[in-house]
Amino acid sequence: MGLMTKNQYIESLRKLKPTAYMFGERVENVVDNPRLRAGIEATGATYAMAEDPEWRDLIVTQSKLINEPINRFNNPPISVEDLVARVKINRAMGQRVGTCFQRCTGQDSMCALAVTTFDCDKKYGTPYNKRFTEFLKHMQKNDFVANASVTDAKGDRNFGPMEQPDKDVYLHIVEKRDDGIVVRGAKCHQTGSLSSHELIVLPTRAMRKGEEEFAVAFAIPSDTKGVIHVVGRSSMDTRELDGCDCGNQRYSKYAPTVIYDNVFVPRERVFLCGEWEFAADLVVYFSAFHRQSHGGCKAGKIDCMIGAAMTMMQYNGTEKVSHHKEKVIDMIHRAETLYGCSIAASYEGKQMPSGNYYIDPVLANASKIHEGKEMAEATRLMIDIAGGFVADLPSDRDFENPEIGPLLKKYLKGATQIPVEDRVKMFRFIEKLAMESADTISDIHGGGSPAAHRLTIFRESNTKDKIKAAKRLAGIES
Ligand code: SF4
Repeated sequence: MGLMTKNQYIESLRKLKPTAYMFGERVENVVDNPRLRAGIEATGATYAMAEDPEWRDLIVTQSKLINEPINRFNNPPISVEDLVARVKINRAMGQRVGTCFQRCTGQDSMCALAVTTFDCDKKYGTPYNKRFTEFLKHMQKNDFVANASVTDAKGDRNFGPMEQPDKDVYLHIVEKRDDGIVVRGAKCHQTGSLSSHELIVLPTRAMRKGEEEFAVAFAIPSDTKGVIHVVGRSSMDTRELDGCDCGNQRYSKYAPTVIYDNVFVPRERVFLCGEWEFAADLVVYFSAFHRQSHGGCKAGKIDCMIGAAMTMMQYNGTEKVSHHKEKVIDMIHRAETLYGCSIAASYEGKQMPSGNYYIDPVLANASKIHEGKEMAEATRLMIDIAGGFVADLPSDRDFENPEIGPLLKKYLKGATQIPVEDRVKMFRFIEKLAMESADTISDIHGGGSPAAHRLTIFRESNTKDKIKAAKRLAGIES
């Protein structure tokens, strides 16, 4: 079929009939629900940019697999150039939508599966890489979106998967059949699951011998029987449903909990089934790739914050205030540092036995640790520059009210030449950038917890060489 336009993408979602709930009610029309549509539009921007002559060369590449142009979001990297392009695209996308565009987790799952299925087959003679390659062709040919289902509910953290009072808190295989498997469990924080054609399920953690039923990976359409998407709340969700005070004109993010209630997975879509040693690899590769992805998208989001802060300086009449300029500089260096780490992680990438390329995990995790702290700092600086109305700006409906609207406009007027309406819009946008819980919390927990990023850095760093260097310089023989 080839590349889809943004409109074709949105129409393609109409053909799906997922089971979705929000606020306790079934959502029959996902595509036209205003809250979900804002998320779909954000993912749709990955199609719109592929159509845009300014961005096409960066986003579209030639698939060696199907010998056709494809969107890079369906391209597990096979060169350093591919790794670098991932980060550049994400920065451009972050600038374009100012929030999460929800197409990277699927891409990062495919990156992890491309490497791990090959390694597993080599060890056990399993057919996973061939099956995954067929799935990848399907994704590329149709220009589909995939969504990663990774984070299990995990139940009581005192216990591993086998010891849980209710084993379903870790997604697991409940039945093996000749034609496939049946699984049960739930995956949390599934950003954009209803904007996606396919769900790719990976294990949430390393598994041990005896935990084979939890070592499972597969892909299924997002409207498969038994799959239930329960859309999570976020701080501005009812505003999106109201169509009022949204802050960002078009784009948003939503993140369902996805329940797998005895879901059948056909054999040809199963990419890991009990080989417990490879559960860890899938998690490690997926997480590292996703942390690299964040270095691009979040730098793009800080770019939006910088633009908003500088515009507010103009609108407030504080352009010449030197400490505001200092704060903008502090925001810029934060964006560039996390972007720089992700770009460096790409240039330090290595070829894996499968032929695919893998980023430097230490640099990718360094980028993510930096993000976890510094996005909050960038947000604080933006709010500091903008002023207190980020917290309690009256509603657009108050501004439209004939009795109080003119009074509000009189008292919210800032710099003489700037229309008050523009100042109000920019305050609202800053509120969205700062307060949209679904996205700001992903700055901290996206791609795993901060503790996981730190552990990975320590595990993957070559600390022996560092000790050796110190001892040599101190004149100590090892
Ligand atoms: Fe992509 Fe994750 Fe960033 Fe969202 S938060 S845009 S899925 S890297």
